[in-house]
Amino acid sequence: MLIVPENKVAELINTAECFSAVENVFASMASKSANNFPVVREAIGHADALYGFKSGFDRETLALGVKSGGFWPGNAARGLVNHQSSIFLFDADTGRCRAVVGGNLITAIRTAAASAVSIKHLARKDAKTIGMIGAGHQSAFQLRAALEQRPFDRVLGWNVEPKMLQRLRDVADERGVAFEAVGLDRLGAEADVIITITSSFAPILKASHIRPGIHLACMGTDTRGKQEVEAELTASAILFTDEIVQAVTIGECQHAVAAGLVSQDEIAELGAVINGSDPGRRSDEEITLFDGTGVGLQDLAVATRVVDRAIETGAAIEVEY
Ligand code: NAD
Repeated sequence: MLIVPENKVAELINTAECFSAVENVFASMASKSANNFPVVREAIGHADALYGFKSGFDRETLALGVKSGGFWPGNAARGLVNHQSSIFLFDADTGRCRAVVGGNLITAIRTAAASAVSIKHLARKDAKTIGMIGAGHQSAFQLRAALEQRPFDRVLGWNVEPKMLQRLRDVADERGVAFEAVGLDRLGAEADVIITITSSFAPILKASHIRPGIHLACMGTDTRGKQEVEAELTASAILFTDEIVQAVTIGECQHAVAAGLVSQDEIAELGAVINGSDPGRRSDEEITLFDGTGVGLQDLAVATRVVDRAIETGAAIEVEY
């Protein structure tokens, strides 16, 4: 069995490889050759922790496995990251454990890849200004992946605590792109693409903020009750997601569905656009919204690339098991 420690993952995968792993697995999901299995997520009654697992199987790449972990709110005080996860890959022919891979960075970069894939396939071709709502840990990853996807020439940022926006300013500086902290009215009026990546439980972005033709990548809502976008705004958009079952239960679409503004069959999988079976954006005036809920197959796809590269470079630790 192979072990790829968390501190080796960064040197084993780059943004482009992560992007293609996620794009391919979304396509496999839409063509029904890859399935996510039901997600388990439980409050364990200790350390305020939320623990669970996401698993799945891709019959095209034979990626089979599980990401296990969750959220330990007291970790920061111990000098540890609050989100902790490990990915286990199994041999699809024998069921033997093939590899254990640190899952923390993989979670961050596979989430960033998802919004970047949505931008590639759904944003207007002439998109130049990207807006960011949220400036926490994940936001820098989302912005970097987006800037690699399109030649955005301006970043507009909003966060409930404005001083956190320095994180996004640093990413924009690193990439030589202009950055401006703005209010939601300006962000909605001037951005061509907006990524939302907060842990909000109430709508932040409203229909009145935005203009036609925008692409929204809503990435923060991954739990029942969380919400970043007003349900009426969601309902006014052409809707795409990674996985429809998750979108209507734990994703941004849960609110518009619960309000009776949207039905499940109005939501398409982004993978169908990648495969060419859904037209995606049909005009420069439409609002497109990608509800990125986060699926286990994204983790397995990226972890598989990491393990392949670890084998090639000798970075994997082999143990008898
Ligand atoms: P973080 O704790 O580092 O940052 C949280 C962000 O949300 C900050 O910008 C904070 O100011 C903002 N925020 C918190 N409460 C708010 C409120 N009430 N109103 C407006 N903004 C508020 O978290 P992170 O690691 O950056 O993750 C952000 C979100 O993304 C979380 O909800 C997380 O669960 C989610 N996430 C989703 C996926 C996915 O695949 N979709 C993957 C990873 C993380």
